[in-house]
Amino acid sequence: MSSERPPRNIGIPWIKPPSKSCNDKNCPWHGTLPVRGKILEVTVVSTKMQKTITVLHEWLHYDKKYKRYERRRRKLHAHCPPCIEVKPGDKVIIAECRPLAKTVSFVVIGKKEDVIPVKPIVRTLKASEQGEETQAKE
Ligand SMILES: [Zn+2]
Repeated sequence: MSSERPPRNIGIPWIKPPSKSCNDKNCPWHGTLPVRGKILEVTVVSTKMQKTITVLHEWLHYDKKYKRYERRRRKLHAHCPPCIEVKPGDKVIIAECRPLAKTVSFVVIGKKEDVIPVKPIVRTLKASEQGEETQAKE
């Protein structure tokens, strides 16, 4: 067993891998668990289970008839590898994975602090290009 194995590339470049290592085969960073599908930002509710946590997901759902948003919330179970330490109240990022148990199909990939802000690529048109476009329309 190697004590410090480097984290795997999980295909999500905007989140930093955890500083600690672990031996969990169901860890997306140090094990062999692939993540795919949804990625959610959730709040930790309970950490009393072994390697599994309860999280609260809150989102806004648009009501077409009343043209307003309504708040929806749902508790989910997520696998939490030992290399990521969480406590109730933490904001964490969970990613969808294969079903690990009857009610567990998400895995914690990091805390909200580990998110690297992505810079949007802004392209501005040059003055000459804009002039050509308006001429073409006329
Ligand atoms: Zn790990």
